Amino acid sequence: MVEERRTSPQREANRLSTMLRHVLGEDRFPVDVEALAREVSKNNEDPIEKIVGGDLPGFEGMLRPHGKRPGWHIVYNDDPRYGGRVRFTIAHEFGHYQLHRSALSAGDYVTGVLQKNCGFECKPLRSNAWRETERLREEQADTFASFLLMPLDDYRKQVDGQEMTANLLNHITDRYGVSLTAACRKWIDFTEKRAAMIVARDGFALWGRASKSALKSGVFVRSGMTMPDNALISQGLRGTGFTSEVPVSQPAGIWSFSRGSEPVRELAMISEFLDISITILQFDAHAKSTDLEEEEPWDAFDQFNAGGQFRPDFDRR
Ligand SMILES: [Zn+2]
Repeated sequence: MVEERRTSPQREANRLSTMLRHVLGEDRFPVDVEALAREVSKNNEDPIEKIVGGDLPGFEGMLRPHGKRPGWHIVYNDDPRYGGRVRFTIAHEFGHYQLHRSALSAGDYVTGVLQKNCGFECKPLRSNAWRETERLREEQADTFASFLLMPLDDYRKQVDGQEMTANLLNHITDRYGVSLTAACRKWIDFTEKRAAMIVARDGFALWGRASKSALKSGVFVRSGMTMPDNALISQGLRGTGFTSEVPVSQPAGIWSFSRGSEPVRELAMISEFLDISITILQFDAHAKSTDLEEEEPWDAFDQFNAGGQFRPDFDRR
């Protein structure tokens, strides 16, 4: 059951992605998610009729049922601070439409107005602010959006085993029309390299993620961890954007995780609007990784659920 919930958003996104490739070929990025949502839903009795920006204080987006006839509206927050995330938000709401909505028909409107409450209101998520069922649903909509906008096979081709640099990340965010956070998080989730990302504010980690192989070797980012004094992001940097074009080599002793400290290559950036920094740590291949297989201290599921690590406070993209 859990497995099915976890895989079906990805499967649905891949199905639509394959369809787009047939129709548009390789030149289909960034995905025009508005056109896709209208096209896919138009043959349903309750299509997505409108996709509009609006003033949604505290919310990133909503999927609203029409009040008088079967149909839906997607509304996204048009505050400029959310600008880099609009495409992802629309894809997230489209995910609710495809995966979670209760389909509407004329029968739901016999009195002239819709009686049931079946909309979706999506906030910047916090780990403990949602009931478990809501959290699962929100996570599924995010997974759907991520795979729809950044199909894995295409992303792998773009990266092709290279080290992550500012240039490469800029290329990725341009190609897919998503925020840096969304692009980094996706890469961390699929890369076979030992790497981690940390989103921080005021010197403390809000949340972080480590790649599978990094987790196996003891790299686990706890929310609340202090950013080291000698980390790039702690060195009194001003302005926004990347602090360097390519990762900077840091000796052992600066970044420490549960099994001690090792040299690392660090790439850091300061986000434009949201007062957060993102640090990407890239480690050398672990010489003893085969010895560590049996321990497997955290699997992906643990990581999702441990200590609020899964949910960023603000920029979950
Ligand atoms: Zn949602």
